[in-house]
Amino acid sequence: MNPDAFNILGACFQDLVAWMEARFGKGAYHAAAVYRQVFRRGRLAPEDLAEFGPSGQLAGRVKAGICFRLPELADSFSEQGVTKLVFRLADGVRIESVVIPMATHFTLCVSTQAGCRMGCRFCRTGQMGFVRNLTTEEIVGQVLAARAVLGFDVRNLVFMGMGEPLDNFGHFTRAVRVLEDQRGLDIAKRRMTVSTVGLVDMIYALAGRRWSRLKLAVSLNAPDDRLRSYLMPVNRRWPLAELIRALRSYPLPAKGHILVEYVLINGLNDSPEHAGRLAALVEGLPVKVNLIACNPVPEAGFEPPPDQVIDNFRRRLVENKVFVRVRSSKGCGILAACGQLGRVPAKRPAATVVC
Ligand code: SF4
Repeated sequence: MNPDAFNILGACFQDLVAWMEARFGKGAYHAAAVYRQVFRRGRLAPEDLAEFGPSGQLAGRVKAGICFRLPELADSFSEQGVTKLVFRLADGVRIESVVIPMATHFTLCVSTQAGCRMGCRFCRTGQMGFVRNLTTEEIVGQVLAARAVLGFDVRNLVFMGMGEPLDNFGHFTRAVRVLEDQRGLDIAKRRMTVSTVGLVDMIYALAGRRWSRLKLAVSLNAPDDRLRSYLMPVNRRWPLAELIRALRSYPLPAKGHILVEYVLINGLNDSPEHAGRLAALVEGLPVKVNLIACNPVPEAGFEPPPDQVIDNFRRRLVENKVFVRVRSSKGCGILAACGQLGRVPAKRPAATVVC
């Protein structure tokens, strides 16, 4: 591979225009033809670049100067319509993406880091530690590779795979710009959700972008600092008061909301009293709460609560006029459910599921 090649998956359209101008004296018209072909068709074939003239010579030189590499599919697992894709990156590091069927479309859960340094106790990825940040190319490449493997498009993206997206702010935000470009993949920001554990400084940085259509989800999981710091070490750095203050100032579109994710753990954070305190915490904030029963973590003694306990929690929130829904955890048996990414299961679903 040419080490000086232009890395198109990691590039915004304007970068490509600048490169084309500098290398070939061609501008936006020709750059758009290249961009379209790479991102819409998933390939770069000089014979299809009619815009570069009939000889194909210039198209061939352009192709030779561009690096276009998708993550390699190492393995895949399916259950209940959910597909977990394991990708091997150029340096051998493995990451995972999950395709989730919805009523009318498919959503792709995208990773932004290999491993994670946040160490949330209920999360398998957190337990494996941090390996490295993904590049823009590797984040965008998951979408193109998933489409190539599956043979169909994904309509929505959730940045809830391995890693904390805002801990890889530069590559994450650049990837959003590449993914949304209408000349390419054309996935509008309103069809993307970024989930964070609450890195307050980065929430302010994201707010500064004024990307109000990009949906923000916050993993809360406890209504007080003591319990939250136990579950999520990040809370010691950014306690709830600071997090809620950042969320109150976050720019939302008219009728927009912040998604609050709350993983319910049996006997730990799942009582009606916890629900009442959660309601008080988010009072006045436009939020929708997603309740997710945790997947078992035998090492930590975490079990999902019984259905009745989940329903009592939900009802207490409803009584306090909080919009809430209970989310089912699909793909548990193939370690593709919430908090389970980070270890490749045996070909047969693992008997003991560890989040
Ligand atoms: S829940 Fe998210 S932020 Fe927390 S350890 Fe897991 S991947 Fe990292």
